[in-house]
Amino acid sequence: MNNTKTIYADYSATTPVRQEVIDAMLPLYKEDFGNPSSIHSYGIKAQKYLETARNNIAAVLNAKSNEIYFTSGGTEANNTVINGIEILVEENLIKKKKHIITTKIEHSSVIAQVERLQKKGWQITWLNVDKEGFISLEELKSNISDQTALVSIIHANNEIGTIQDLKNISLVCKSHNVLLHADAVQSFCKVPVDVNELTVDFLTISGHKIYGPKGVGALYIKSSQKLPPLIIGGGQEANLRSGTENISGIVGLGIAAKLLNSEIHQIASKLRQQQIRLMEKISSSEDKKFIFTGVEINKIKENIPNEKFLYRIPGHISLCIKDTEAESIVLQCDLCGIAISAGSACSNLDLKTGESTLKPSHVITALNIPKEYEKGSIRITLGKDTTNEEVDYIAESLINIINKLSAKKTVLK
Ligand code: PLP
Repeated sequence: MNNTKTIYADYSATTPVRQEVIDAMLPLYKEDFGNPSSIHSYGIKAQKYLETARNNIAAVLNAKSNEIYFTSGGTEANNTVINGIEILVEENLIKKKKHIITTKIEHSSVIAQVERLQKKGWQITWLNVDKEGFISLEELKSNISDQTALVSIIHANNEIGTIQDLKNISLVCKSHNVLLHADAVQSFCKVPVDVNELTVDFLTISGHKIYGPKGVGALYIKSSQKLPPLIIGGGQEANLRSGTENISGIVGLGIAAKLLNSEIHQIASKLRQQQIRLMEKISSSEDKKFIFTGVEINKIKENIPNEKFLYRIPGHISLCIKDTEAESIVLQCDLCGIAISAGSACSNLDLKTGESTLKPSHVITALNIPKEYEKGSIRITLGKDTTNEEVDYIAESLINIINKLSAKKTVLK
């Protein structure tokens, strides 16, 4: 493998915008630059683009077009839901109490909002996860009540790729008449996400994880539900999200979703094979100085024949390396021409010593893995154009790097 070329293996962080999406977006910057709120022909044309994109997203989610609201991304959509529920409860617009159930492995855009409410006196239940990252339906059932305002669950976790059993989670929520929000940023267009089958009330998606542009996403709100806005002003997006629409981004999101969804089974099946190939090759390393995190290989293999792609995002691999800082691995990989990610460890500055100490991410902490592995969490995520040759090069390089770092004892004690 020629290592002058960089292999991108960080597709859960973001993806390149595919050419068809760029081509579809370009007219919006040039001749079709109208504002959809204008009533002249430029505005009417822009309005048509907007509604076509809305139809595209609705079709992929099996939703109605008027259930799709465009946002600036997944973060804003998640914030809109939690912030909206807060207003509904505090203004007595729904007959629920200040109780939210979520998980210990949410994205920071949910955690930050929920922690804000916790500080205001809301009761928050943080569901545990098992060693593969799954919540327990029993724990959910035992914490839920008709006073619970919202259950917010990350559909597929960004760090370890675990896909929750949203269908059964939604059945529990429905039986208690409790609203359910799913953050589907990492699962959308990678595994089938059908809002009718999953019976969620709110669902978050984002453009830049699906070969679409950054800074655009959408929130699905079931037609029987209503949320107050997070951003107010000119009343765009049926008053949920004011501000002149990011039309080019929205068109890009719509096309990206339509295209990726049309290839979903073919790409997921290729990525499933490559995920297994990579995990098996890494496992073949003689001296195992790591543990895989997330769903185990045998469970992933079970998924191939029925193509349901449950349990784990196809092409997602995560592992923790013993007595090593993830950043060292990421930097060494970069030197070998491979772009991967550290599992979101955050750095803390010790004010007394002036030294920075790495803290394992909340996801790794929730998995309860042995201490000596906690700081070495890395993530490799493959994409639709990743080749088997690249997968083999990643495996070979990673094994060498792990062995080299362990030999040098780049360790944290
Ligand atoms: N939710 C999850 C699970 C994510 O992985 C991300 C982004 O990494 C987000 C939400 C935020 O989406 P965005 O980057 O569009 O704001």
